[in-house]
Amino acid sequence: MTRLILFDIDNTLLYTGGAGGLGMNLAFQEMFGISDGFANIEFSGRTDLYILSEGLRQHGIRGGLEANLKAFLRSYHRHLKRTLKERNGHLQPGFPHLLEALQQRNGVRLGLATGNFSEAAWMKLEHYGIRQYFRDGAFGEESLDRAELVRAGIQRFAGHLSPSDVVVVGDTPHDVSAALANRLIAVGVATGTYTFDQLRDSGADVVFHDFADSQDAAAILAGEA
Ligand SMILES: [Mg+2]
Repeated sequence: MTRLILFDIDNTLLYTGGAGGLGMNLAFQEMFGISDGFANIEFSGRTDLYILSEGLRQHGIRGGLEANLKAFLRSYHRHLKRTLKERNGHLQPGFPHLLEALQQRNGVRLGLATGNFSEAAWMKLEHYGIRQYFRDGAFGEESLDRAELVRAGIQRFAGHLSPSDVVVVGDTPHDVSAALANRLIAVGVATGTYTFDQLRDSGADVVFHDFADSQDAAAILAGEA
């Protein structure tokens, strides 16, 4: 393998129509009787572990993550299964064609670098029909901090690769800084809440408006152009 390309999920590969946030809110409400428990927390680019720990802290929930994570995950996954069906989401422009084009290249492997808890990540990919392109990844339960999460994931499944052979693709400055903190190639895509200019200013090596021209994007991500 010569190149590993890690994709963020929400707003990069797909948009769930808010199914993820709603699922987390419903789980928080079910467990603690608090509606809209994450109202004051910015989700974009954050790990789910960070979002949950902030929610627990802001509402003074006893025991923190240690006491509540397992039960929260069970409840969240149950709600997410339903909210994914209820909300109208979509794949982002150029998908799944970009994944297909990359998968066909020798020496390219695809992975995930997502703040999502792993089971929720796989549920989202499954729902939108792109699970088969990915085998492993760095997931939200690995750390509160996105750069650490990416580092842990890469050490686990791509420890033999040089950082300059690893590309991280995401829609927020958090994705970009997590890549740069690990000396990886940072690619921004402006299909989320951040603009092309904001992603470029955050230090991304390459920025796309979207991946609608999937053949062109595949060549750039694979390091051919
Ligand atoms: Mg994202």
